[in-house]
Amino acid sequence: MMNKPTKPVAGAAVEGGERVPVLSLQNVFRSYAEGDGELEILKGANLNLYEGEMVALVAPSGAGKSTLMHLAGLLERPQGGEVIIAGKECSTLNDDARTAIRRTGVGFVYQFHQLLPEFTALENIALPQMICGLKRADAEDRARQLLSYMRLAERESHRPAELSGGEQQRVAIARAVANAPRVLLADEPTGNLDPKTSQYVFEALTALVRASGVAALLATHNMELARQMDRRITLRNGKVIELP
Ligand code: ADP
Repeated sequence: MMNKPTKPVAGAAVEGGERVPVLSLQNVFRSYAEGDGELEILKGANLNLYEGEMVALVAPSGAGKSTLMHLAGLLERPQGGEVIIAGKECSTLNDDARTAIRRTGVGFVYQFHQLLPEFTALENIALPQMICGLKRADAEDRARQLLSYMRLAERESHRPAELSGGEQQRVAIARAVANAPRVLLADEPTGNLDPKTSQYVFEALTALVRASGVAALLATHNMELARQMDRRITLRNGKVIELP
């Protein structure tokens, strides 16, 4: 089905009997300059994300969800603390090393699909793999597998404008996991869809997470979806808090 070993349930790499997180944020600090002062967003935030697990990040607007995602996805650097992906501390690496880890180790899904309009569904999924050095034929093979897994085999030659909102988002999810990342970060991935389509896209995403073992963090305002995930977290006073 996919090129990664399949794991049916949320599992985790085990080292000396301990679960080892795929993504770990440790005592992370991030603030932004605001006038004369500092706007402190994260103040010693901790988060562990394990293989094959789906975690909902639910917090009001402005709480720092995007900031947390950007730090986890190596798009920004923390001012303090560590961001560890697959055992590697990334916050002190140089930009080239961070870009290399981001390209293959992290997948992103956004609220708006961000697919390239002039390319087909197949090409949108094949391109990130080719950027990472795969031959076109191999990249397209994997893209076809992923499209088929997302039940989009019939749509491979459609351009984004020729796909429905739900289909576009499923292509975007397939693209995000094209390079078999360890971590998947999704910022309101169904925020733009009606409830029924949201549920369908969410179920496709869940199946993919379970089958690939990727660790997924999803920012969402949709409590219906949040309830279906393994854990729910929020941000309070700059820290990550587990919700019931
Ligand atoms: P959320 O995603 O939860 O809505 P964000 O992480 O986007 O929250 O933002 C948290 C706070 O940090 C907001 O008040 C926002 O205005 C501020 N902020 C985010 N990014 C920047 C930036 N690059 N420069 C200055 N302030 C920022």
